[in-house]
This record gives sequence, structure tokens and C-alpha cells, in this order.
Amino acid sequence: MCGIVGYIGPKGSTDILLTGLSKLEYRGYDSAGIAVLTENGLESKRAEGKLRNLVKVVQSEPIDGHLGIGHTRWATHGRPSETNAHPHRVGSIAVVHNGIIENHLELKNPLIDACHVFESETDTEIVAHLVWRNREAGQDFVEAVRNAALELHGAFSIVVMDADTPDRIVGVRVASPLVLGVGEGENFLASD
Ligand code: GLU
Repeated sequence: MCGIVGYIGPKGSTDILLTGLSKLEYRGYDSAGIAVLTENGLESKRAEGKLRNLVKVVQSEPIDGHLGIGHTRWATHGRPSETNAHPHRVGSIAVVHNGIIENHLELKNPLIDACHVFESETDTEIVAHLVWRNREAGQDFVEAVRNAALELHGAFSIVVMDADTPDRIVGVRVASPLVLGVGEGENFLASD
């Protein structure tokens, strides 16, 4: 059970993500992280432990932009560590995830054979690799996420952003909560 949050709109996303994560922190204390599309491209900050550790990192190395995703982790696959903290990134893709991907190991082997390098011990990282593989194959962002999600077994919600698609974030839920907040000129996703 993790806390996930996403924002797209005219405001700076970092404060919104950190405020959202403070409300979701009860869902996981193992690590926290955010990814934001800044003027320099996709940037992320992650920290092991409670949200306050991430807040310190973001205060000392600020990032901001109109689009971002965030996560507080309750580890199920892989120890609590910064490397295993979400968001997980591959290419232009960043992913946060709540739940379990049961078939992550069987999905991983063909990607390793195709020279994908995995950095974490999580089941989540497979999602970033699948979406990126689909993007590299020429699929648009929504199609790439949809096709990746169709390969996943388990109960999960995921939120994905793509630095090459700056006008949207994509959420998927399968037997796991994901709330959509529709605003005026801005939208939100959260695991509760
Ligand atoms: N399975 C993911 C991880 O271990 C998400 C954990 C969860 O939702 O509790 O990082």
C-alpha cells in the first residue's frame, strides 16, 4: 500500500505533490520521491525513510514544473532504499506504483535479453521499461502505457509521465484505488 499522486496544470507541481504526499504518508514510510518535468527536462528526487527526508532534499536542490508525480513507499519487493524508491525512470518515462505486479520476473527476462538494464529490486521498474520499450517502438504515450498495462498481472494502480509528452499524465488502476480530481485547467491523480 503506497501513496501516489500526480499533478498537471499551470501551478508549480512540487508543492502540490509534497502536500499530497503529506496526506498520503500513512500509506508508506520506507521512502518518498517525486519526478517533475522542469525546464531542464525530467528531474527526480528520492530519499529513503520518511517524507521529511525528501522535503530536505528538495529544499536543498529545488525542482519545479507544471507536471509531476510523487510517491510514498511501503516496500513489497526490494528493501527500503533510495535505489528502490519511486519514481522509477527509464528513458523519458517515470512511474509511480501502488500494489504488486505478480508477473514482473517473467516480463523482466525478455527485456534483459533486449539489453534493458534494471537498477532496482522492485516489481515496479518493469512498468517503466515496458512503457519505454513501447515508446521506442513508435507507440504514442497513451498507447504505450495501455499496452504495457495489458501485460501486467496483479492488483495495482500506476501513474506515468513522459518527458516527451508534456501535456498529459496517465493513470491505470486494476483492483486498486486511484482517484481522479478534475479541476479548471488542472487535474490530479491520487491513491486516495
Ligand atoms: N511493489 C511496489 C514496491 O515494492 C509498491 C509497494 C506498495 O504498493 O506497497 O515498491
